[in-house]
Amino acid sequence: MTIPTSTDVLVVGAGPAGSAAAAWAARAGLDVVLADAATFPRDKTCGDGLTPRAIGEMQRLGLEDWLRAHTVNQGLRAHGFDQTLLLPWPGGSLPDWGSAVARTELDDHLRTVAIKSGATALDGARAVGVRREGERVAAVAFRGLDAARPGEEVEIACRWLVVADGVRSPLGKVLGREWHRDTVYAVAGRSYVDSEMSDDPWISSHLELRDEQGELVSGYGWIFPLGNGTVNLGAGTLATSRRPAEVAIKPLMQTYADAIGGDFGLSGELRMPTSALLPMGGAVSNVAGPNWALIGDAAACVNPLNGEGIDYGLETGRFVAEHIASGAGLGEAWRSTLVEHYGESFSIARRLAGIATQPKVVAALGPAGMRSDWLMTLALRWMGNLVDDADRDRAARVWRWAGRRSMARDARPPFS
Ligand SMILES: Cc1cc2nc3c(=O)[nH]c(=O)nc-3n(C[C@H](O)[C@H](O)[C@H](O)COP(=O)(O)OP(=O)(O)OC[C@H]3O[C@@H](n4cnc5c(N)ncnc54)[C@H](O)[C@@H]3O)c2cc1C
Repeated sequence: MTIPTSTDVLVVGAGPAGSAAAAWAARAGLDVVLADAATFPRDKTCGDGLTPRAIGEMQRLGLEDWLRAHTVNQGLRAHGFDQTLLLPWPGGSLPDWGSAVARTELDDHLRTVAIKSGATALDGARAVGVRREGERVAAVAFRGLDAARPGEEVEIACRWLVVADGVRSPLGKVLGREWHRDTVYAVAGRSYVDSEMSDDPWISSHLELRDEQGELVSGYGWIFPLGNGTVNLGAGTLATSRRPAEVAIKPLMQTYADAIGGDFGLSGELRMPTSALLPMGGAVSNVAGPNWALIGDAAACVNPLNGEGIDYGLETGRFVAEHIASGAGLGEAWRSTLVEHYGESFSIARRLAGIATQPKVVAALGPAGMRSDWLMTLALRWMGNLVDDADRDRAARVWRWAGRRSMARDARPPFS
């Protein structure tokens, strides 16, 4: 394949965020190159859960039938403190169903959607640097593009650069991105395991997560059914630089699996266990320049209360393509868009998540919360940020009010 030397829009990273950006930009008639360091299909450490926000974006991309052919779930079964609650997805302005698809398959499919929309995809292309003209990025340097000379750098010039290179965002760092770990982040792991509950129409979360010594850990364990004889089993905990996570995630997943294995008909080993850090709640600065923007995990667009980020990746991919296609520009305009869409909800969510890094708080509030269907339904809606600007009900208004108050008090608000 001929390597393009220039393009309108260069997207670096072909996870959900990059592929969505590439698909929407190509559909808007722009010339798009979608480059990723990996060769697809590739794995990504994730719970594989698609909540209603993600379903909404997948529908927009035309993928509803594809998703429904995988698995459909109707809500969350919350377990803990001797209680089990069934909490249906609330619906409202967002879809009332969820799904789960292993990332190896989901990301490959989304990338194919981008290609079918007109983007040129490059595998094995690791972005290593940029050439600037003033504040603008004129070109990105890649390694691995020339198979005969893998160490050689090859440049692709661009009018617009979308940085979707994930949690560590190596290209974002080159552009000045800074991740603030004094704000809450997650340490989480996932594995796959055979289960008799693989067709369960509910996803499950265990809010009472205990380590090998039986001590309560802040965070939660999950079982997300994949409809193919297996489930995604994982566990995550919250941390800050002041209160680092003191628990080893892989043994925690095993302890969790041992504790709930009987209830979920689990059998065999935990396969492919992996873990990762997760920046959350817009806890990064320098998210844009005049012709470049960070999206998805690179911009810490992850919900601090449940760790979901596929939906925000898909959304920010669409928004950035709209910015570029409309000529609205990036830079401060892009930062404002992130603040407008996510600032208030991320601010209040990360404040609450910061409080929940203390196991004492979980021990005190968990049992009371789990005794109330009403409280947990509210918590599911707030924790999942299943509140849209269109929602006018009381719970939505309280959530938005709390977000505004929280942001006004933030020493460093999201994306700054
Ligand atoms: C344990 C765990 C469980 C999670 N569970 C869920 C869940 O159930 N639901 C949910 O919604 N979210 C979940 N998340 C979060 C979710 O995985 C991320 O928010 C999501 O993957 C973000 O997508 P992205 O496109 O921004 O980044 P990624 O999916 O990470 O994609 C980034 C891409 O950039 C490429 N790349 C990196 N560096 C370079 C480079 N220098 N040059 C070129 N390419 C590069 C990588 O190869 C990769 O393909 C979980 C995260 C973890 C860690």
